[in-house]
Order: sequence, then structure tokens, then C-alpha cells
Amino acid sequence: MPDVGSRWILARAEFPSLLGALARAGYRVVGPTVRDGAIVYGSIRSVADLPEGWSDRQEPGTYRLERREDRALFGFNVGPHSWKKYQFPPREQLFTLHRDGSSTFEVAPPPGDEPPTAYLGVRACEIAALRIQDRVFVGGAAIDAGYARRKSRRLVVAVQCGQAGGTCFCVSMGTGPAVRDGFDLSLTELIDAGRHEFLVEVGSPEGARVLEGVPLRPADASDVRAGEARVAHAASSMGRTMETEGIHDLLLANLESPAWEDVGRRCLACTNCTLACPTCFCHSTEEVPDLSAEHVERWRRWDSCFNLSFSELHAGSVRTTTSARYRQWLTHKLATWFDQFGSSGCVGCGRCITWCPVGIDLTAEVRAIRSAAARTRSGSGGSP
Ligand code: SF4
Ligand code: SF4
Repeated sequence: MPDVGSRWILARAEFPSLLGALARAGYRVVGPTVRDGAIVYGSIRSVADLPEGWSDRQEPGTYRLERREDRALFGFNVGPHSWKKYQFPPREQLFTLHRDGSSTFEVAPPPGDEPPTAYLGVRACEIAALRIQDRVFVGGAAIDAGYARRKSRRLVVAVQCGQAGGTCFCVSMGTGPAVRDGFDLSLTELIDAGRHEFLVEVGSPEGARVLEGVPLRPADASDVRAGEARVAHAASSMGRTMETEGIHDLLLANLESPAWEDVGRRCLACTNCTLACPTCFCHSTEEVPDLSAEHVERWRRWDSCFNLSFSELHAGSVRTTTSARYRQWLTHKLATWFDQFGSSGCVGCGRCITWCPVGIDLTAEVRAIRSAAARTRSGSGGSP
């Protein structure tokens, strides 16, 4: 069995044997696939399901698929989906209450029969996002049973980024582009004239077990250097940057900045950013009784702090304006998340920028708040 930390070369022609090994080890495989004009996560049954030869062009409010000149399997950036849809499903039954004419209900958990699942193609920023959601759902005193069950059944097959998208800024957030830990297997696609192979790194005993029987040759120093060059290229081509120095105090000291009103005039409160974000975890719960009142189901579904009803208290909504809701989102993501969970809530994936229909870019909004604060300090206008 390969050692944890060892590196191997898998020929492109042998990639189906990796998928076969995952299936033999008992995993259903989910990963990137082309659907509805985007690269989204879905079932992967064969190499034909992967976005071979596809890339994407991303800018604020813009996403387009493009053909590559080569036949790379992972030559694109993150799309609208994130792995949270598997860990924290958009709609999930939490439990049922049932009675047969008696006065007391019996509580039953959901079936919890999700199969072991291999996430194929997890990028460095997405590993950081999984770690953040793990902290939220199973890292505190209250353990989310469904999330914990799915986490225990996941296998992370990471892919190193060889390029960056127009809205990526993982370098600024310290989350990528290099995958360094948190994976069972890591793949670096080595593709150029005359070569199409994968550098495979073993990250866990389970990853090593899966690799047994897959045709591999040991990687040499030049293979490792070629892999590092791919990641270095991605690091040097980030589409965005965000200055994070002092960001916690900057945002919380400028809650009355005119920049919030400005973004509030552009924001549609559509919730796209929170749905696409791999770390956003806000949700609502609802009871669904049947007409006999003998059977009740409790469901959880994704919600968003951009919804007016999300801050509804006994006397109405607390955050009635769009600017207040945008401020809540950004200050939580980049400031109070540190107080609550000890890290930033943003991993720099850029999804909220790409998938915002009006192209609102949080890196630009943070710059605007910095600029307004600087103007105030220098006495040339800005917030009171
Ligand atoms: S806030 Fe935006 S860039 Fe940051 S993790 Fe969420 S979607 Fe990605
Ligand atoms: S910032 Fe953009 S994506 Fe988010 S709610 Fe506003 S308009 Fe929608």
C-alpha cells in the first residue's frame, strides 16, 4: 500500500482506473460536470462526465464556458456549486414526529442512509471552506448529526489549481492555491505538448487504500517541480486581491460608512451570493404537518441574511434596508466570523462576485470602506 505523503504518476489513459478504484472502495463519486452552460457538481460515473477540454471566463456578474486548446480534465475554476450542497443540503429533513391516536408523539430521526461519497476535484479554497463549515457544524458544543454523518463518509480527492479565474483571490485570504492538507488524495494535472499525466499525492491511509491496484509509477523530482510550477502559475494569475490587514477593526469601526449606502443602492438582495458561497450556513427550519395532525416533519432549508424575513423578530424585521443586510453579510464574513469561529468566513473563491447579477465585488467594497475611512481621518469628507 502506498505511504501517506508519497507521490506517484498516473497516466491520463489510466484515469478510469482511479474512478474504478473509488467505486470498488465503496464510494459514489461526485465532481465537476458540464450542465446548463456551467461547470457544476454532479454524479461522475466515467471520465466522459468530466468537463474535458472546457474552461471558464469569470468576471463580476459574468460566467462563460470556453473551449480549451488541450483536453485537460480540470482546466477550469470553481463554478456556482460548492461542496456544501453535499455536506449541508439545501433542504433536509431533521426529524419526524408521529402518533397513532395517542396523546404523545414518537420522534424519529431521518434515515441517514447517504452512501460514502468521494468529492472529486476539490480545490484548495474549497478545502478551506469545508474546514470552516466543519467548525460551524461539528466543531462546537452542538454537533449537527447529519453533517457529522456525511463528514465521516466523505473522501476528498483534491485537484491543484493550474490557473486562476478572474474573480479568484485565495492568495489574499491565505487559503490557496496550493492544496497542502485536508485531503485523502491530491491530483496535479500535468499537461503540455506530448504529456498528459497526473501527479498524485497520498494524504491519508484511506487515500492509500483506494489507490491499491491503480497503475502508478513513482514520481521523480522533475514531476514534483512540474506540479509546483502549475500551482505557482495559478498563484501569480489571481484575478483579484483583497487587503486583509486590520480588516476586522476596519469594518466594525465603520458601520456608518457612506459605502454601505452606496452598495445598498446597487444590491438587489437576490441572495445569490449567499447561496453560491461555500461557507454561508444560514438556514431556517419549518414544520410540515399532515392534515390528520398525526404526522409532522421538521425540515431545514437554506436561508439568507439578504432576505427581509431572516431578521424578523416579534416587532418586525431588524434589518429593513438592503444596505443594512449587505453590511450584516460583509461584517459577519470578514469580521465577526473571527470572534465567533476564530477565522475569516471568506476563502477568496470569488463565487459571490461572479454570480452577483449586478457584479458587486466584495474586494472593491472593502476598498471603498477603506478609502472612505481614510478620507474621514484626513478630514476630506466621508462618514461622520
Ligand atoms: S464571501 Fe465570496 S469570495 Fe468569500 S468564500 Fe464566500 S463566495 Fe467565496
Ligand atoms: S450582493 Fe449581489 S448577489 Fe448578493 S444579494 Fe446583492 S445583488 Fe444579490
